[in-house]
Amino acid sequence: MARSEHGVTPQSEDFSAWYNELVTKAELVDRGPVRGSMVIRPYGYRLWELLQAEIDRRIKDTGHQNAYFPLLIPESYLRREAEHVEGFAPELAVVTRAGGKELDEPVVIRPTSETVIGEMMSRWISSHRDLPMLLNQWANMVRWELRPRMFLRTTEFLWQEGHTAHAGAADAMGETMLALDLYAEVARDIAAMPVVRGEKTPGERFAGALRTFTIEGMMRDGRALQAGTSHYMGVNFAQAFDIGYTAESGQRELCHTTSWGMSTRMIGGIIMTHGDDRGLVLPPRLAPYQVVIVPIGRGEQWESAVTAARELAGRISAGGIRVHVDERQQLSPGFKFNDWELRGVPARLELGQREVTAGTAVLARRLGDAGKETISGSDAPAVLAAALDELQALLLRRATEFRDEHTFVVDDWESFTRAVSSGWALALHCGQPSCEDEIKAETAATPRCVPLDGPPESGPCVRCNAPSAYGKRVIFGRAY
Ligand SMILES: [Zn+2]
Repeated sequence: MARSEHGVTPQSEDFSAWYNELVTKAELVDRGPVRGSMVIRPYGYRLWELLQAEIDRRIKDTGHQNAYFPLLIPESYLRREAEHVEGFAPELAVVTRAGGKELDEPVVIRPTSETVIGEMMSRWISSHRDLPMLLNQWANMVRWELRPRMFLRTTEFLWQEGHTAHAGAADAMGETMLALDLYAEVARDIAAMPVVRGEKTPGERFAGALRTFTIEGMMRDGRALQAGTSHYMGVNFAQAFDIGYTAESGQRELCHTTSWGMSTRMIGGIIMTHGDDRGLVLPPRLAPYQVVIVPIGRGEQWESAVTAARELAGRISAGGIRVHVDERQQLSPGFKFNDWELRGVPARLELGQREVTAGTAVLARRLGDAGKETISGSDAPAVLAAALDELQALLLRRATEFRDEHTFVVDDWESFTRAVSSGWALALHCGQPSCEDEIKAETAATPRCVPLDGPPESGPCVRCNAPSAYGKRVIFGRAY
């Protein structure tokens, strides 16, 4: 299939080219002047705001408060937690000169904020009555990227990071799982991404965490995307930053802390979970425009079509639907149809002279077999609300089926390599880092997670025959 003048390289032909062209053509992002940086354009930023609002509401509903911490962090802070600094060192952007002179102590641009928030928590927490401390920040982060990819890996990205401190391990673990469940809910109910909740193997853990949990989604090329993570730190950061409290007994104790984040990477996940050869397919709950009305006509007929479109938009908007009237006069209707399909708008209404006279509109859905249908203007809000709900459900169902069709339970090496070339392998594994490394070197697949819902099972490692670890199967796949 050739690329049309308007469209992008078909997904089925070259997934990577499709993605790179689409994020630009759909006007989600543009390349920033510094390598690996990303400009988020209004259409992409609205998508982010809608996602952000869903996450933020849930964070607040579960008792967390938003705060804001500085972008610049003393380099010495990162050194206080040995694993943490080791993990982040290669990605750090360090400021050594400012105010016209060399700094006495370099400062890093935050790659994550455990250290500075840990320092502040140590000042703010003194008694068990101060616990739990449940904080969240919305901010930009910088991690120097050698292989940048819009939304997925950019030198600067946006996210939220929850940081909490608790009196004991059980409370902190409860919090870690609460955040994970929150992410899984947003992914499933809002982004229509069926994700697997699981725990990372030791080699894939966050630098400084005792346990790292993840939600993993399958993209339409069979690769995995880590879409959100939640970490239980034990007392690692409490020791490094002296986050302690006086217990009821009068004894001084260390806090158990957590952190968890979801970022603009999620948008890449949405694009690669739902998009098709014609472009983006946006889940209605996150679509900046859920409905676009295209008035059709010339001269006076154009004027009357625009007037009718605005009036119809007012009625649809009153029904709580995000609607946009495409009043670009210099472009043909056909161009506009393709444009809004490329940009993933769930539903389009066409309004020509015939429809204006009859008080109707022609509805075209972004997905589904319904074809075009004529609806009455007065029914439009209800018909569209139903169409949006249907599409939201269809996307989740379709993505779930795709994932299940591309997930294989495997017990031998040949089946394993076949499975990870098109999707995920569910395999028993010994848990040895050297064995993980060999698998990665040979197949590019890594352990994505040990699914929380996986049934108990044990046996020989799919690769080396040593006894399996974890007590259940591990998901392996190639990942973004
Ligand atoms: Zn092994």
